[in-house]
Amino acid sequence: MNREIEDLFERQMRAWPQLAQGIEGLAQAKTIPLRIDWFDVFVRHIPHRIASTTAPVDLKSVAKRPCFLCAGNLPAEEEGLRFDDDFMIYCNPFPIVDRHLTIAHREHTRQRIANQFGHMLDLAAALQGYFVVYNGPECGASAPDHMHFQAGSRGLFPIEQDTAGLAGITVPNYSRNVLILRGRDRSALIDRMDRAIDLLAETTGKRPEPMVNLAVFNDRGEWITYLFPRSKHRPAVFHTGELTVSPASIDLCGIFVVPLAHDFERIAGEAIAAILREVTLPDDQFNEVAGRLEGGH
Ligand SMILES: [Zn+2]
Repeated sequence: MNREIEDLFERQMRAWPQLAQGIEGLAQAKTIPLRIDWFDVFVRHIPHRIASTTAPVDLKSVAKRPCFLCAGNLPAEEEGLRFDDDFMIYCNPFPIVDRHLTIAHREHTRQRIANQFGHMLDLAAALQGYFVVYNGPECGASAPDHMHFQAGSRGLFPIEQDTAGLAGITVPNYSRNVLILRGRDRSALIDRMDRAIDLLAETTGKRPEPMVNLAVFNDRGEWITYLFPRSKHRPAVFHTGELTVSPASIDLCGIFVVPLAHDFERIAGEAIAAILREVTLPDDQFNEVAGRLEGGH
């Protein structure tokens, strides 16, 4: 699969100016590490992310625009790779990381993780050296009406180092609460994820799907999955105009996207830690879900 993706990027870089421009934009992006708590977050200034960071994702606005993930609406130059019966892999023209991919369902079906987590695990297994993410419809997905994942190179994927060797499902003293599910048994992982999603829906009262971001990668047969339960889509500083940031899976994994230069110049580690805490599930609810998941009841 990796070879086919390299070839796809090579062809699309030549044929599709918007992609070439996006990759050039990423090459020009400034990245600085900022210490928050006991780990680094890489703050990345990428101007081309502004449309996504500020995208209106309410039902009304979404219904008004042509769906940019439906095959019939793609630019003529854009080419995809078939992954399985359900999903197509495309190069993302607004990359945050190297080899940024958008993996879209072939049908216009809304963003839901139920019955799709198995596809996510299969993608992670097929894409060695990549991580795969899912952004819930109210948690950063800019197409909440069309089922999709994203993937990118693990060359920069800070959470992997932060949590290496942790076997448990909670990370103590972390600025964002995260459940870590790892293992080699695909169906056992799907069962545990279903259970976690159920418990979160019950605890937060959000149905059919609680607010979540997911990230997964596969390293020589073992899957490592990060589940970030959310309490909010965007932080208060976004709404006041103080900082134009809107964290989704990649930000929670430690690559914090800042599209505006004047935000990038003044943002501090404490502000990022506070934002991550604000948008993820508060400790009491998180601990209840983590405890029940660990206890198996
Ligand atoms: Zn669509």
